[in-house]
Formats: sequence, structure tokens, C-alpha cells
Amino acid sequence: MKEKRLIIVGGGVIGLCSAYYAMQRGHRVTIVDRGAPDHDCCSLGNAGLVSPSHIVPLAAPGMVSLGLRMMLNPEGPFSLRPRLSFELFNWAWKFFRASSAAHVLRGAPVLRDLSLASRRCFEELAEISGNGFGLVKKGLLVLCRTERALIHESATAIYANGLGIEAQVLTPEETARRMPELELSIAGSVYFPIDCHLSPTLFMGTMTRELERGGVEFVWNTEINGWRTSGRRVTGVVTGTDPLSADEFVLAGGAWSSRLASGLGLRLPMQAGKGYSLTLEHPKRMPDVSSILNEARIAVTPMGSKLRFAGTMEIVGMDSSINAARIRGILKSIPKYFPDFSERDFRETPVWSGLRPCSPDGLPYLGRVRNFENLCIATGHAMLGLSLGPITGKLVSEIVSGESPSVSIELLSPDRYA
Ligand SMILES: Cc1cc2nc3c(=O)[nH]c(=O)nc-3n(C[C@H](O)[C@H](O)[C@H](O)COP(=O)(O)OP(=O)(O)OC[C@H]3O[C@@H](n4cnc5c(N)ncnc54)[C@H](O)[C@@H]3O)c2cc1C
Repeated sequence: MKEKRLIIVGGGVIGLCSAYYAMQRGHRVTIVDRGAPDHDCCSLGNAGLVSPSHIVPLAAPGMVSLGLRMMLNPEGPFSLRPRLSFELFNWAWKFFRASSAAHVLRGAPVLRDLSLASRRCFEELAEISGNGFGLVKKGLLVLCRTERALIHESATAIYANGLGIEAQVLTPEETARRMPELELSIAGSVYFPIDCHLSPTLFMGTMTRELERGGVEFVWNTEINGWRTSGRRVTGVVTGTDPLSADEFVLAGGAWSSRLASGLGLRLPMQAGKGYSLTLEHPKRMPDVSSILNEARIAVTPMGSKLRFAGTMEIVGMDSSINAARIRGILKSIPKYFPDFSERDFRETPVWSGLRPCSPDGLPYLGRVRNFENLCIATGHAMLGLSLGPITGKLVSEIVSGESPSVSIELLSPDRYA
């Protein structure tokens, strides 16, 4: 196989994982990011869940009406700020169109295959790095406060079992045995033994070190603001200084990818889905299994001695400011499930925010585009970017090496809205 020069736009989890597997295949890789080496991005403060349990795409039946109901509550976990924007209208219409049973039937097996393959990659990476990122394979509990939610989640469990993802519906007592450290106020839970969790910051650090060791070049503080092309080839990326050229280009710019792609005349509908996390440095109680507070849509993840709470999905444009009402909503919800905790426990806790790259059909954009033979798109992972990071990177490396992808990615074509 011919060694190629590769430029990856974006040093988030997708960019780093793509660089890792391309480097493994002997390519010469450069990562270009507009941030500094210690810059923040969506890949750092997230909930750290590696979740094959999440097989249902975001665009699913009932999601539109659920979203509308949630929007009525200013402290609720979901909001969409209406604004005069063709992109937003277009995205919302496509989301509405995609929220069908037929789409879930098509999308769920693809997400399952990607997730399971990615989980295997995490296991390999943990072995290589001496588990430098705290991978814990103890499963995920979806905690339901109400019978109604439990019935709904039980249906998801049946669906997951049918697709080969083990899921067990547990009584409150059975749940307490899995999470004995905390008092629980729940109607029951669904347990997904296959899920894992890790520290995203440690994962990013581990990957960066592996890349530096392998000779990957990092070009920090360099914003890409255009492309050079010749016919059906991308020849370079335009920066504030000299353009950078390569044989192959990978667009992994997270929530900014849509804007970057438009510079090549590509249509990649996407909205940023803002979420928050708060990390307790010294939690008064410490579970060793991760959980989701179902009705509140909050993920709770032990990370070493810390405990992270993450949630909300706000479609408010490229705005990463902190909405105090949403944070109040998170803090009010936690004691409803975990009476050991109170809002006071979070008084000094800083709030992190991140912008998820959300496609309208809840599936990533991954693969070549029709118009350019040496461009690969890898973005749009929404709530699954960490989970699917390694398999995305592996698939990118296969694509740029001219090999057939090891997991079917036809549904993920970046041209599907062209
Ligand atoms: C609250 C919250 C919780 C989450 N929990 C989970 C979870 O538990 N599990 C999970 O799998 N996922 C989770 N996610 C989603 C996950 O964090 C994202 O899907 C993932 O981080 C996206 O990675 P990325 O590399 O595509 O984007 P990013 O991490 O945003 O990286 C994009 C990079 O591109 C760079 N860039 C952008 N534009 C340019 C430009 N013009 N020039 C140069 N560089 C540029 C940026 O600086 C940035 O470094 C969560 C997200 C949030 C907000």
C-alpha cells in the first residue's frame, strides 16, 4: 500500500482516532486545529459513556412530540431556540422526516455494528496503553423514576435484546444490588451489561501521546478557512499563513464541519446540540457503575475519584454560553433519583459546555463524497462521538487506504442530503 500524506481538520476525538489508525497503516498524518494544544472541545467534558446500548438513532418516532413537550419547560433537558435561519428550518424538517419506524429499523443495526466494533477497539487501545484512560466494563443502568418510563424503557430493552444487545429489566431492589453505594428513588431500571465508561480527558491525552510517539504532526492555533481544489481533487487547506497540501483530507471539525464543508460546495446539514457537564471532585457517594437518569436525560459517570453529571440538548446555534435555567433543571433532577445528593453539593462546581455535531437523522456522516475523490468526511456523531470514535477512525483509515470498509457504512454517506 502506498504511503499517503494526510491532513485531518479537527483535533477532537474523531480527528485523533482517525490519525491513530491512519498512522498505524503507515500514512504521514498532520492534524490541524484552530485551538491551542490544551484547547477545549466537545470531546473533553462529555459523559464518557461507551454505549452499544444506544442503538436507536436520535431521530425516532415520538421524538418530535417529546421534544415539543420538553421545550415548554425552561429547566427541561431539551430546547430548540426558533430563529430565522434556513439551515435550522431545513435541519428541523429533515429531522421530522427521519423520525420514522422505518428509519429506526434501518439505522439501529448499523449503530449496533459500529458500537460493538468500537467497543472492541477501546479494549485493544486500553491494552496497548495500560488502560491509561480508565476504561471500566461494568455496564450501564438506565434509572426510571416512574412506571411509565420503565414500561417505555422495557420496550427498548426488548428491542435491544432482539438486536443482540443484552438488556435486563430490574426491580428497585435488583438495581440497588448493582448500585449499593447510593440510595435510589426509582421505579426500576434497565441494565445494559455491554456498556462501558471512561475518562474522556484521559482518553484524549492517551491518544495524543500515542500520536506524538508515532510521529503525527500537530499544527495548533491554525484555523482552516478555505480549501484549494483542482478538478475532483482537494489540493490544500487555506490557513491564515501558508496553505497546507496533502494527498488525502479528512474533515473532522465537529459542529463546525457543516460550515467548512460548504466551502467545497457540499451540503452537510447539521446543528450544534449544546450540552453541559458538572464534575464533583469529591462526591459524597461514589457508584462504580455508570447510569442515566432517564426522565431527566442526565448521564452520571464515575471517573476515577470524580463523578460527572452531564445532560441537556439545546439547539441554539453555535452558542456555548451557559443557560442558568437548564443547569438549575439538572441540579433539581439529581436528588429526585439520588436523595443522598442535594443542589448544595454543586455550589462550587464549574459548568462545562460542549457542542455536539448533530445530523438531522441521528446518524454520522462518514465516507467519501461524490465530488472529491480524496476527501473523507467524519462527523455528525451527536451523542455518540466518543463511543464511535475508534471505529470511525478505523473506517477512515480503511477508506483513505483504498480498502473496503470493515463495517457497512452505506447509510452514513455524506452525500445523502446532497
Ligand atoms: C454534555 C455532553 C455529553 C456527551 N456524552 C457523550 C458520551 O457519554 N458518549 C459519547 O459517545 N458521546 C458523548 N457526547 C458527544 C461527544 O462528545 C461528541 O460527539 C464528540 O466529542 C464529537 O467529537 P468531534 O471530534 O466530532 O468534535 P469536537 O470534539 O468538537 O472537535 C472538533 C475540533 O475541530 C476543530 N475545528 C473546528 N473548526 C475548525 C477550523 N475551521 N479549523 C481548524 N480546526 C477546527 C475544533 O477546534 C475542535 O478541536 C456528549 C456531548 C456532550 C455535549
